[in-house]
Amino acid sequence: MDPSVQHEKACKLEFAVQMTCGKCVYAIESSLLDVPGVQDVTVSLESQSVLVNTTLPAMEVQNLIESTGRRAVLKGMGSIKSQNLGAAVAIMSGEGSVQGVVRFLQVSEDTCVIDGTLDCLSPGLHGLHIHEFGDVSAGCDSCGGHFNPGGNNHGGPGDVDSHVGDLGNILANDGGRAAFRTENERLKVWDIIGRSLVVDEAEDDLGRGNHPFSTITGNSGKGLAYGIIARSAGLFENLKQICSCDGVTLWEERDLPIAGPGRKKVQDTHAHL
Ligand code: ZN
Repeated sequence: MDPSVQHEKACKLEFAVQMTCGKCVYAIESSLLDVPGVQDVTVSLESQSVLVNTTLPAMEVQNLIESTGRRAVLKGMGSIKSQNLGAAVAIMSGEGSVQGVVRFLQVSEDTCVIDGTLDCLSPGLHGLHIHEFGDVSAGCDSCGGHFNPGGNNHGGPGDVDSHVGDLGNILANDGGRAAFRTENERLKVWDIIGRSLVVDEAEDDLGRGNHPFSTITGNSGKGLAYGIIARSAGLFENLKQICSCDGVTLWEERDLPIAGPGRKKVQDTHAHL
C-alpha cells in the first residue's frame, strides 16, 4: 500500500496519563516508539497528556501505556489532519452485562475508522451492525433493520451487495473482550449520527449462509447490547477533568463501568465523551 494512504488512515489519540517526572515521560515514549502501527508520539508532563498517531486500536495503545505501570484514560480521538470531518460515539449496554464504547471517526472524505472495546461477550465472533433508528425505547427491537440506504441484501463490509450498516464480525477473546479497529469506505459519520449500533449474540454469516435470515440479518441472533450513535467531542475539545453532574473525576471514572448498574454515582449513560 502507498505509505501516504496508510498515513491518512491513522488517528490521533489523546490520552490523559498520570505522570510525575521525566522518567515517566521516557518510560511512556519507550513503550510506544518502534511499535508497528505507531507513527508519532508526543508526551507532555505539564499537561499530563500523551498524543499518539496510530493505526492501532485505542485499547491496544492504552495497554501499551499502562504496561509502564501508569494509568491512562482515552480523552479523545481525532483525524491527524487539522480538519475535523466528524466524530461520533456509541455507549453500548443492554439487558445483560455486555457493555462498551465504540467510536466513529471520519479521517477523510473516503474513510471512516471504527474503534471500539466491548466487554462481557462470550468468546468468539459477534455480528456488529448499524441499525436504521436511534430509538432504543424497546431495546434492540425498536432500532429497525440494518442501515440500508441502497436497498441491498445483507452482506459483509467489503461486499458490493451489502447494507451500509453491515460492519461484519468482531472477535471476543477468552476474557470476553473485543477490542477492534476497522476502516470503512462506505460509512460516513454524518449519515449515522442519530442511528444505533447493535452487537449480536452470534456470528454474522455475512449473507453466505443458507438460513432464511442470511440475506436480511446475517442470522447473528438477538442483540446483546446497543447504543445510540451520538456526535462526540473532537480532539482537545474534551477539557473537563471532573464531571459536574456527579463529581466523579476522570481517574475515579476510569474504574467505573461506563454505563449500567455498576456505575454507582450516575444512573444514566452519561460518559463524558
Ligand atoms: Zn445487514
